[in-house]
This record gives sequence, structure tokens and C-alpha cells, in this order.
Amino acid sequence: MKVQKLIVITVIALLIGAFFYFGYHDYLTLHELKTHQAAIEARIAAQPVTAAFVYALIYVLVTALSLPGAAVMTLAGGAMFGLLWGTVIVSFASTIGATLAFLAARFVLRDFVKDRFGSAIRTIDAGIERDGPFYLFTLRLIPLFPFFMINVAMGLTAIRLSSFYWVSQVGMLAGTLVYVNAGTQLAQVESLADILSPTLLGSFALLGLFPLLAKKTIDALKSRRVYKPWNRPKTFDNNLVVIGAGSGGLVTAYIAAAVKAKVTLVEKHKMGGDCLNTGCVPSKALIRSAKWLSHNKRANEFGIKHSSADFDFADVMARVQSVIKKVEPHDSIERYTELGVEVVTGEAKIISPWEVRVETSEGSKTLTTRAIVIAAGARPFVPPIPGIDRIEALTSDTIWNLRELPKRLLVLGGGPIGSELAQCFARFGSRVTQVEMAPRLLAREDPEASEAVMASFRQDGVDIRLEHTAKEFIIDNGEKILIAEHDGKTVNISFDQVLVSIGRAANVQGYGVEELGIALSPRKTIATDPFQATNYPNIYAVGDVAGPYQFTHTAAHQAWYAAVNALFGTFKKFRTDYSVIPWSTFTDPEVARVGLNEQEAEQQNIPYEVVTYGIDELDRAIADGEAHGFVKVLTEPGKDKILGVTIVGEHAGDLIAEFVLAMKHGIGLNKILGTIHIYPTLAEANKYAAGVWKRAHAPVAVLNWLRRYHGWRRG
Ligand SMILES: Cc1cc2nc3c(=O)[nH]c(=O)nc-3n(C[C@H](O)[C@H](O)[C@H](O)COP(=O)(O)OP(=O)(O)OC[C@H]3O[C@@H](n4cnc5c(N)ncnc54)[C@H](O)[C@@H]3O)c2cc1C
Repeated sequence: MKVQKLIVITVIALLIGAFFYFGYHDYLTLHELKTHQAAIEARIAAQPVTAAFVYALIYVLVTALSLPGAAVMTLAGGAMFGLLWGTVIVSFASTIGATLAFLAARFVLRDFVKDRFGSAIRTIDAGIERDGPFYLFTLRLIPLFPFFMINVAMGLTAIRLSSFYWVSQVGMLAGTLVYVNAGTQLAQVESLADILSPTLLGSFALLGLFPLLAKKTIDALKSRRVYKPWNRPKTFDNNLVVIGAGSGGLVTAYIAAAVKAKVTLVEKHKMGGDCLNTGCVPSKALIRSAKWLSHNKRANEFGIKHSSADFDFADVMARVQSVIKKVEPHDSIERYTELGVEVVTGEAKIISPWEVRVETSEGSKTLTTRAIVIAAGARPFVPPIPGIDRIEALTSDTIWNLRELPKRLLVLGGGPIGSELAQCFARFGSRVTQVEMAPRLLAREDPEASEAVMASFRQDGVDIRLEHTAKEFIIDNGEKILIAEHDGKTVNISFDQVLVSIGRAANVQGYGVEELGIALSPRKTIATDPFQATNYPNIYAVGDVAGPYQFTHTAAHQAWYAAVNALFGTFKKFRTDYSVIPWSTFTDPEVARVGLNEQEAEQQNIPYEVVTYGIDELDRAIADGEAHGFVKVLTEPGKDKILGVTIVGEHAGDLIAEFVLAMKHGIGLNKILGTIHIYPTLAEANKYAAGVWKRAHAPVAVLNWLRRYHGWRRG
């Protein structure tokens, strides 16, 4: 503990000790006050300013040290200085005292509480950030909660000092007034209970609820304002209309139909959206073929003398399409119709908060609905680099149309999509150059994860160009060239085809978002509240169009909240739970993550411990010829509580599931270590990582004693 903290604690303890030791608490009673009332009044009449100053000082000390007697002091204020001056002096003295107690608690205890209850305190801080002043105001208005406890408790949160001060001063005013007024009638007050009758307490409780009611009213007024220009239909054809039949829209419609709501799902292109048609499914199918080739290349390693692969890239791409065809029925119109969803093929446009017009091949129709869920997805972002329009850039939307393998493929972007595809094409035999502005690929992951991936890419022949900024595309003598800047110099990179994969932009135009004034976030996605609602309380958004994550499983996760809140929000709303979000990049090696990694913990100043288990030691990985990668676990200091996990290696995306479950349900590393894992499996790596943690936290003193004990037993 820091010296300053020790000094503060010692001073506080000495002052509190002295207060009781010298019996000052006996003076702060109603009886004492009434006994000495005449003498006190005489002194005040002689020196009113000095008396006020001394009184205020004592008041500040009593509240700052959380000593008993503040109520009697307030009565004394009324008796000594009358209603007006009594209220003014008490109001300032009590607020200053409370603020000192708040500051002392923050200085002495906040770091300790943050270290010990890190994740809980982060959740509370987030709530305080959002609603802190309202919450404090409520507590201050209801004198049922002891003020000294509120001062200390608030000091442990992240509420701003200025907010604490002014909210306390205003919030305590009503209570101060009542007590000071009672003090002016001191002769009639027989006990402190006389001051607060049940009726008065009830009124205070009502007053306390006022700020929360006010917030609800403000929300209601806000929503009335957004709805004002529109005419609400008297009845509705639908409970819900869902725009877009990708991962987010399909799950939303599924849930709505499951709870017997009338739901219409509108899709303008292909059922299944990006994931099925141009995203997860084709990319994973392509990765499978590429991986087969890489294994084939490594035939010797597996004791096979000679193995060759003769393939046609067009056949590989045909297989990708056949995989899509096989998955298609899961997302088909037939399946969803059977589930009870009305599926409409056509382009949707929101024309009012309760109306969606759909342009179909048979004409246009307007659907009325109580609620709308926007699940319109995102599209590849193509940056306005000079010359890009002349080189027929490929994106993750169009690359699936290729039937001829590009000889030289330039991949712009070192994120998950660019990386997965760069490695695939290199394995098929393209000469791949991957250009990335950042100092490493997969820059969101920890450096050693990026290093493992980059080492594997280099083995596959990918020419990785880091810290290269694309400046211009030119065509020189029929040769396509990217002009990039690296280290202040110009670099020319020739290519036959380019894949642009530098991010995805939410689809927010062309279907009524602008016309209705649906608010966007700074990241140009549809802005949603914690319940997935937009600034129109009956219009929700999920998936890539809303963010903040752009994965199929997060779109599906949000969809549950949007569907339930849209259909049952009148009774109860559920906040989307983002506490445990996993993802995986399906490069070879795979990089899977849940929760924090080291670089995020450092950026966010979150204390952590870290253990790493090297998969190169794992029996099954050795047998499989995949002895590489690691399981890296971040835990709360001194505890087995998991803050985050990164797994790099074969099937990392599957292995992480155990940690996802553990984090979601508060299972620590001790329990993972105590769970039987089948031998020999890759999943054992998780248990061994827990074992590394256990060894690092072995009770050294106990073990030393045990050594002595066994020595003694041996004689
Ligand atoms: C190459 C690639 C690989 C990926 N790999 C993975 C992966 O391995 N794992 C993972 O979790 N995620 C992956 N993703 C991301 C994943 O595909 C998306 O996060 C997911 O598809 C988002 O679903 P969504 O419902 O938000 O949007 P989408 O799937 O894009 O669906 C939106 C739908 O809305 C329709 N639509 C838009 N406007 C209208 C309108 N006005 N009227 C009617 N219909 C409309 C569109 O036609 C589209 O079908 C990958 C993405 C790509 C590009």
C-alpha cells in the first residue's frame, strides 16, 4: 500500500478513535442539544459569524468522517441559525463533508476494489457513466439510505467529482430543509423519529422516484417527437417485418414465428445473405480445398514418398458452389415458410415507422407492422484510391465468380477476410502479395498470434508487405501496378488481379433510413441502444448493419434480443449481453479468441495475469503433425477467473468453445483443470493451460512444509 494511503487511513482512524475516546458522541444527542440550547443560543447571539464558522467546521468533520450525529447537527443548525441560514450552512457543510468522505473512499479503496472486483466494478462503472447522476439523486432524495454509506459507495465508482458534488447538494436539500425546520421547533421535538413521520417518509420515497420517472418521461417525449410527423395505422398486418434474410434477419424471423407472432421476412437478393452466399460458407469451403493441397505438399512428413495433386481451379470453385447448395435448404424460403414466417422476395423500403413498402416482381405492396427489424447487412468497402475503377478490383462479393486462378494476386488488407483468402490463393498456386498498412497482419490479435500466422503465410509463399500504404493504381503497358508508400519511399507492386478487403461498410442507404432520420453511429452503422432499438423505439437493427461486431454468430445473438424486445418490450426489455464474444479467423493456423487479449488489457488498463501453454508439447498435435501454436489465458490477478483466451493452432475455433462456456458461466481454470479431457485430443491443450496456471499459483509455503513432512516420515 502506498505511504500516502497509509497516512490518510491513519489520520482518519485517529480522528474517529479520538471522537469516541473523548466521548464527543455523547454531545451529539437530542437530549444534550436540548439541555444546552439556551447556553448555545447565548453564545451565538454574542458571536454569530464565528459560531456559524465553527458549527460548519464541526459539521464538515462529522460528515467527512462518517461519524454518527449528522441528524442532530442539522437540528442544531435550525435551532441556532433559523430556517434560512440554518439551511444554507447545513447544505454547504453537509455537501462538502460528504464530498470529502467520497474523496477519501476513492483515494483509499477504489484501486483495491478495482483489483479485486475488476469485472463487476467495470459493469457498475458503465451503469454510473450512463445513469450515475440520476441514480445518486434518487438515493439522496430518499433519506432511508444512510448518507454516509452513499458517500463511501459512490467513491468506489467512476462517477465524476463535480457530478457527485452538485447532485448531492441538490438531492439533500429537501431532507436538510425538513430537519432544519424541525430544529427551529426544537422544544417540540422529543425524538428524531418525530421528524420523519411515515407520511413524510412516503413523500420522500415518491420524490426519490421522481428522477427515474423524469427520465422515463423524457424518453417518452423523445419518442413522441420522432413519431410526430407520421400517421400511425389503426391496425397492423404484422407484428414484425424483418428486412434482410441473412444471419441476423433469419434468426429474428425464426424467433418471432416460434412465439407465434405474425412476421414477414423480406429479402431482395439471396436467402442466407452474405454468410451463405459470399462469406463464411464459401470461404470455409475454399479453405478446405486449399488445406488439402497443403497437406498433400507435406506428404513426406506423413511417411508418404510421393503424392501429386492435379487440379483445376474451376473445379474447386464448383465445389464451393456445391457446398453452398447443400447448406442452402437451411436458409430456404420453404424452410422458413414451414416455420411460420411469411417470406417475400423483393426490395424493402421503410416508408413510415409502421409501414414497409416491398417492390416485388409482381409489383409493389405495403405492409403495416407494429415493429421493424433492420438486418440489411454490410458490403465490402472499396476505398477511393486513384485508379481503382480501372483495374476491375475483386471483393469478397465477386471473388466467387472466378474460374481461372490469378497468376499474381494482390490482396489489399491484412484483416481476417483478406488473410483467409490470401493464404488460400497462395496454396492454390497464385503468387500472392498481401499489402497491409499496420505493422502486422490480424492487428487486433496479440503480436505472437500475428507472428504465428505470418510465419505460416511465408511458408506458403505469401509475400507480406507490412506498413505499406496504397496510393494509386496504374496500368503501364497493359501491366497493372499498385503504387504504395513504404518508409517514405514509393514501391511498385505488379499484379494480375486485386482483392480489396479492407473492411465492410454497413448498408444504410436506399431503403428509408435517411428519409426517416434513423440515427447512425460515428462508424456509419445504424445506431442502436442496449436493446437493439434505433431512435425509433419500434425499429430495431441487428447484424453487420448495426455492429459493433461483424460475425454471423453475433448477428444471431443480437437477433434474439431484437425479436424479443420488439415483440414483448412493452412488458420487459432485455439488454444485449456482450460480456462474452468469441470469434475465429480460419487461417492456418487458426486464431481464435474470447474476451480480452494482452494488448486490449493493457490499452484498457485492466490488471491481469497471463499463462501460455505451447501446443508443440501436446501429444495429439505431435501425432497429427500439427505441433504448433499456443493457448494463452488471461486471468484476474491472484484468481482463476478467466478474462480472455487466445488460441492459435489447429482447430483453435473449435477448442475455444470450452473457454467461451467457462467465461459465460463463471467457471474458472481450477474447474477446467479438474475436468476429464479425452486423451489424446487437441482439447487437452485447454486443460494443460489451466495446469500451467495452477503451477504458477502453487502454495509454495505449504509445499515446503509438505517436503519437510515427507522427509520426517522417511526418518
Ligand atoms: C469472406 C467472408 C467470410 C466470412 N467469414 C465469417 C466466419 O467465418 N464467421 C463469421 O461469424 N462471420 C463471417 N463473416 C461475416 C458474416 O458473413 C456476416 O457477419 C454476416 O453475414 C452478417 O449477417 P447480417 O444478417 O447482418 O447481414 P447479411 O448476411 O449481409 O444479410 C443482409 C441481407 O439483407 C438483404 N437486404 C439488404 N437491404 C435490403 C432491402 N432493402 N430489402 C430486402 N433485403 C435487403 C441483403 O440482400 C442480404 O441478403 C464473413 C464475411 C465474409 C465477407
